Amino acid sequence: MYKINGKTDLLSLDIPELENFLADIGEPKYRAKQIFSWMHRGVGLDGMTNLSKKLRETVAERAVVNLPTVEQKLVSKLDGTVKYLFGLWDGNVIESVFMRYKHGNTICISSEVGCPMGCKFCASTIGGLVRKLLPSELLGQVIAAQNDMGERISNIVMMGIGEPLDNYDNVVKFLKLVGDPEGLNIGSRHISLSTCGLVDKIDELAKLDLQITLSISLHAADDETRSSIMPVNNRWRIAELLDACRRYFAATGRRISFEYTLIAGKNDSPEYARRLAATLKHGLYKNSQPFPIHVNLIPVNEVAETGFTRSGSAAVNEFARILGTLGINATVRRKLGSDINASCGQLRRARLKADESENQTAENI
Ligand code: SAH
Repeated sequence: MYKINGKTDLLSLDIPELENFLADIGEPKYRAKQIFSWMHRGVGLDGMTNLSKKLRETVAERAVVNLPTVEQKLVSKLDGTVKYLFGLWDGNVIESVFMRYKHGNTICISSEVGCPMGCKFCASTIGGLVRKLLPSELLGQVIAAQNDMGERISNIVMMGIGEPLDNYDNVVKFLKLVGDPEGLNIGSRHISLSTCGLVDKIDELAKLDLQITLSISLHAADDETRSSIMPVNNRWRIAELLDACRRYFAATGRRISFEYTLIAGKNDSPEYARRLAATLKHGLYKNSQPFPIHVNLIPVNEVAETGFTRSGSAAVNEFARILGTLGINATVRRKLGSDINASCGQLRRARLKADESENQTAENI
C-alpha cells in the first residue's frame, strides 16, 4: 500500500493495517499497538526494546519506519520560533516551523515537496511539484520536532510547502493517524488546513465532518486580480470558492479563516478593502444568516524571484480598520521568526540554490 524502496512504510499505517501486516508474518495482533506507539514517539525498529530481536529483524526485512532527519535548524533570537529543514529518505528536503503561542506549541508542516499551484508571490511553487508527501512524512514532521524540542506539540497548521488538498488522500490519512489516542492524540479541533481553494476537495472534506479549521488563501477580492496572482482562480472563480465555504460551514459549523496577503500597489488600497468586505458578504451570506469568519492580513513576504513588495504598516492598518468598520473581523498576522526566514519555502529554495551552484562549480572544475 504505502511503499518505500519496495518495503512497507509502517508509519503510514493505522493500527488495523499494522495488525494485518503482522498477521502476514505470523505475529499476534497486540504487537500492532506496541509498534504504533513506539513509532509515534519517534523510535525506530532498533529501539523497540519490548520486541524480540528476531521479530525486529523479520519486520526490517519487509518494512521501514520512515522518520525524517534534521538537516538544519534555525532558532529565532527574537521569539524562539524554530525552523527545521527536514531530510527525507530520497534526499528531498521540506520545511516545518515550531512556534510557541499562549494556547500551546504549534507546528506548521509541509504537505508536498514543492507545489503545483503556481501562486505568483510564493517561494514554494518555484520549480513546481516534486512529489506528494506520504502520511508518514506528514506525521514525521510533528514527531521529529516534538522530540527535538522535548516539548509537547498541541496544535498543527498545514501552511507549509505544498497544497494539502492536492495531496488529499494522504492528508486525510494523516489526520486520522495524528488523532489516534495511542499516538500523538492531536484532535482535529487543534488542526488548521490552508488551501488555495480546490473546490471539489473542500466539498469532500466537508463530508468527512471533521472539526478542522479551514483556512482559505483568498488574497484578492475580484476575479481579475485573483487570476493574475493565483492560477487556481482560472479553474474555480471566487463565487464558486465562497459557495464551497458556505457548504463547509453548513456541514461542520466551523468558523472559516481567510488569508489575504497584502501586496503594495496590487491589492492593498482602501478601495480593495471595501471590495473584499462586499465580496465576502455577498459570496458567503447571500440571503442566509451570516456565520463567523475571520480575515488574516499578511503583508507579503518578499521573495527575490517574485518581485512583489510588502505593503507599509500604515496601509496594512488602514486596510484592517476599514474591514472592521464594515463588520469583517480582521487581524494582522503577527510575524514570527522574521530573522530566520521562517516563511515556508525559502529555506528549501536556499538549499536548492546552494546545491545548484555547488554542481555548477563541480562542472566548472
Ligand atoms: N497551499 C496552501 C498552503 C501553503 S501556503 C495555500 O495556498 O493555502 C500558506 C499561506 O502562505 C497561504 O495563504 C499562501 O498564499 C501564503 N503565502 C505564500 N507565499 C507567501 C508570501 N510570499 N508572502 C505571504 N504569504 C504567502
